[in-house]
Amino acid sequence: MIIVMSPNATEEQIQMVEDMIKQLGYACHEIAGVERKVIGAVGDERGKDRLQAIESMPGVESVVPILKPYKLASREVKSSNTVCQVGDATIGGKEIAIMAGPCSVESRDQVCTTAKLVKEAGANFLRGGAYKPRTSPYSFQGLEEEGLILLQEAKELSGLPIVTEVMNPREVDLVAQYADIMQVGARNVQNFSLLKELGKIDKPILLKRGMMTTIKEFLMSAEYILSEGNRNVILCERGIRTFETATRNTLDLSCIPVLKKETHLPVIVDPSHATGHWDMVESMARAAIAAGADGLMIEVHPDPAHAFSDGPQSLKPAKFAALMDHIRPFINLMDRTLK
Ligand code: PEP
Ligand code: MN
Repeated sequence: MIIVMSPNATEEQIQMVEDMIKQLGYACHEIAGVERKVIGAVGDERGKDRLQAIESMPGVESVVPILKPYKLASREVKSSNTVCQVGDATIGGKEIAIMAGPCSVESRDQVCTTAKLVKEAGANFLRGGAYKPRTSPYSFQGLEEEGLILLQEAKELSGLPIVTEVMNPREVDLVAQYADIMQVGARNVQNFSLLKELGKIDKPILLKRGMMTTIKEFLMSAEYILSEGNRNVILCERGIRTFETATRNTLDLSCIPVLKKETHLPVIVDPSHATGHWDMVESMARAAIAAGADGLMIEVHPDPAHAFSDGPQSLKPAKFAALMDHIRPFINLMDRTLK
């Protein structure tokens, strides 16, 4: 429910309403209003009729239901775009965020070389997995904490903030010591215990869409994080599974305008996992910017032929630098900027 206070409601009246919401077992979420205070009451849907009674409290103008199944993620509750701040970079504002780096962290030399080269080409985040969700248990599973330490070194060397995946609620605290943005991979988009844990920390969460996740389910997953208190969620479209086999997945570009309409959260696109082929990454990167994405996540490897994972879709640093040159006109056309 959304509780709209009247413009002349006193601080005391607002406090009484908030106390009542909490007493009824709901959480209060402040929604910034221009003229009046608006409070979101979010919780168990079964008791929502009791919230309606708040309408008769002094200072309350109206109590209106939130019609969407996702509440805090919806534009109904927050109409202005969420802008995530990471150091001096922003995601969801005017700047286009460029997250680039290897699929997996493999060695000091590999991650540090990549960090230096993607930074020179214009990336403003370094991506790299230390915990890898692999389809086969016999494939490389990641360097785990050693990988996080190497990411830290690459960060110190390049100045780029780190985006890295967390797979397990038990590893949230450890990964949070190294990551600037915590990534939830496509396979974990409905790992609700993990999402709830991530809702309790104060780092931005990059939530990837699952390969079989509808937009509504995707937003409900974001809601799990938001409802625990963490408001910094970045959505990432990375391709969905269709009947088509020419590409690894099918990039659902149309989810960008749908998400932009439904939610205030930033939306970025990963054309690497979406296509699975390095030579298709650039055209989909251009298309994503043109469709209104707030950023890109791109896999870059100094030696893709010998990559431990996702070599076929990884760009060599020189190709990534060319991609950066080629997306600039699209960024300008969309009245956006690069950091
Ligand atoms: C990745 O980013 O390397 C990754 C495993 O992506 P996804 O979860 O989208 O498959
Ligand atoms: Mn990958």
